[in-house]
Amino acid sequence: GMVSNRQKDEAIANFRFEGVLIDERPYGSGHINDTFLLTFDISGMGLLRVILQRMNKEIFTQPEELMENVLGVTSYLRKKIIENGGDPERETLNIIRTVANRPYYVDSQGDYWRCYKFIDGATSYDQVEKPDDFYQSAVSFGNFQRLLADYPAETLHETIKGFHDTKARFEVFKKAVEADVCGRAASVQKEIDFVLAHEDVANVFGDMLAAGELPLRVTHNDTKLNNIMIDDKTGKGICVIDLDTVMPGLAMNDFGDSIRFGASTGAEDEIDLSKVSCDMELFDLYAKGYIEGCGGKLTKKEIELMPMGAKVMTFECGMRFLTDYLEGDHYFKIHREHHNLDRCRTQFKLVEDMEAKWDIMQEIIRKYNV
Ligand code: ADP
Ligand code: MG
Ligand code: MG
Repeated sequence: GMVSNRQKDEAIANFRFEGVLIDERPYGSGHINDTFLLTFDISGMGLLRVILQRMNKEIFTQPEELMENVLGVTSYLRKKIIENGGDPERETLNIIRTVANRPYYVDSQGDYWRCYKFIDGATSYDQVEKPDDFYQSAVSFGNFQRLLADYPAETLHETIKGFHDTKARFEVFKKAVEADVCGRAASVQKEIDFVLAHEDVANVFGDMLAAGELPLRVTHNDTKLNNIMIDDKTGKGICVIDLDTVMPGLAMNDFGDSIRFGASTGAEDEIDLSKVSCDMELFDLYAKGYIEGCGGKLTKKEIELMPMGAKVMTFECGMRFLTDYLEGDHYFKIHREHHNLDRCRTQFKLVEDMEAKWDIMQEIIRKYNV
């Protein structure tokens, strides 16, 4: 339900803040958590801003594990940033603890709250307005990968189990076709055949991981533009935020998901498929930024597999839309009839386009794999 003033006041009273609270308001355009901006007046020292969030416990059912991830990653980042002569107050999230010295507060209704220092002089943008925004996000997510390259990824909790287990999602898809609870399977035979013909795409990373050919990485898993802060003065990406979905995973999947939604020329639910393709200039730009940001920390093989990451993530996403369509649209919110089918079709159109441009994508990546 909604956050009541009473619930919020209880949370605020339980964090270790300095100064007098002079303003509080809902903040940002995130869709997952309830985010507030608090402003404190610290006598003689000006104003101090803080981000307060009620965490979404419907989506994240293990908030303690989630916060263990966030604490582990942010404290590690802080150390690395200081070592590199950066500004740890602006280049990573910083948790503000509770009066009981805990990294989160559980209120009397059982909801979880956390606080971060506000990152000053930077903005999180909802829309890519110019190609450089996309490039900056690539550099930032690459930097994130570089700084965390030696973090023991296997110690992180999987905040959403099997999130990019494409193989398992393929099995779920097949069950949905068999069950056909809405009687929709016959009308989407073409899309079903597309999935079945791409079983190898569903398996490729799982098989390589099992064979020990790929390193497990700290992945972000929500690499949208509005999850990085861009410095208002320099225009450079300075900080990756929104660490709820940080998990052990594959670098190619973070890269690939960014391409899936960021390099598409059409909206995710575009009906006119002639408008949907994978823009090779944007692909090039993001690859350049990401690989630069990673600063040599990725293996040659990981870089080589980046086009595959784009294809796997796009295929997986389309398959999930189709699964949800077959199951009666209970996972992805729909705003019109057949919405999930439309979404599925844009993703499969993108996969086909990537297949057609496969050599170009390989060539682009080769330029940066030095
Ligand atoms: P959600 O999962 O709901 O997207 P986020 O953690 O991304 O939640 O927070 C929502 C928004 O709040 C962000 O897009 C950003 O605008 C703002 N925000 C979050 N943390 C900070 C911070 N430490 N400093 C400044 N702004 C922040
Ligand atoms: Mg966010
Ligand atoms: Mg989020």
